[in-house]
Amino acid sequence: FNHEFQAYKFENECFTLKFKNDIVKSDYAVLIYAMGADTKDFVFYDEMKLSKVRGQVTHLKPFLDTPFPLSSKAYICPIKDDLQVIGASYDRLNASLESKEEDDKQNIENIAEFIDKNTKLEIIGSKVGFRSYSSDRFMIVGNAYDEVFYKEEYKALLWTKNKEQKLAKISCNLYFNFAHGSRGFSTSVLAARYLCALINNEPLYLEKKYIHAIHPARFLIRKLKKGL
Ligand SMILES: Cc1cc2nc3c(=O)[nH]c(=O)nc-3n(C[C@H](O)[C@H](O)[C@H](O)COP(=O)(O)OP(=O)(O)OC[C@H]3O[C@@H](n4cnc5c(N)ncnc54)[C@H](O)[C@@H]3O)c2cc1C
Repeated sequence: FNHEFQAYKFENECFTLKFKNDIVKSDYAVLIYAMGADTKDFVFYDEMKLSKVRGQVTHLKPFLDTPFPLSSKAYICPIKDDLQVIGASYDRLNASLESKEEDDKQNIENIAEFIDKNTKLEIIGSKVGFRSYSSDRFMIVGNAYDEVFYKEEYKALLWTKNKEQKLAKISCNLYFNFAHGSRGFSTSVLAARYLCALINNEPLYLEKKYIHAIHPARFLIRKLKKGL
């Protein structure tokens, strides 16, 4: 909607969304949190530790005609119009939105192995972004869960993990799709298909044996299994 989301209310099986500047939109059956690194400011579960990692790409005047991206220590994208993108830096300790000269320098040093050392490179810009990470580096995709219910019903998981369990109840149609880290261009496709299937109650697209690895409640379940 081109608005900044702030909060939601779930009433009568529908979401009402509140955006910045007092904009309100209502009557949505499903809500998916997909705010990348900023999701960290909206999701607060005890065991789900989210982090953001700054990255900077450098925009260069076209210097290498490649039909596909080249990737090693760094990457070089194919030319687009009058621009060629290389990247990317990785910095957990800096949250600045401003571009840094040393990051551009580092990006250029990191592509040295791909190019002739006499290639003339001209920087025409750079862009900073933030990657969203979970604590086990896998994406977080699936239904939001009721932490209180899990802690109560599964508190003896250490002793009962091979016995039949009470099924987790789904509190509302709130879904998650974030923590794609540095791999979002591939994992987002998988996540989108899985979420569509989940929402429409269709075969899940993803093999069941992999679902635990992306399930939003996995961090809590791991702890409960250890009896902590
Ligand atoms: C420098 C850099 C280089 C990268 N290189 C690669 C690469 O080579 N290959 C690869 O696979 N991945 C790469 N990634 C990672 C990739 O960009 C991410 O994994 C991917 O963009 C995640 O997609 P997303 O939709 O989850 O989040 P995002 O692309 O971050 O999109 C989230 C969107 O939500 C919006 N938003 C946030 N908060 C709100 C709010 N309150 N209200 C409304 N909208 C909101 C944001 O403005 C943004 O548009 C790179 C990341 C960075 C930073």
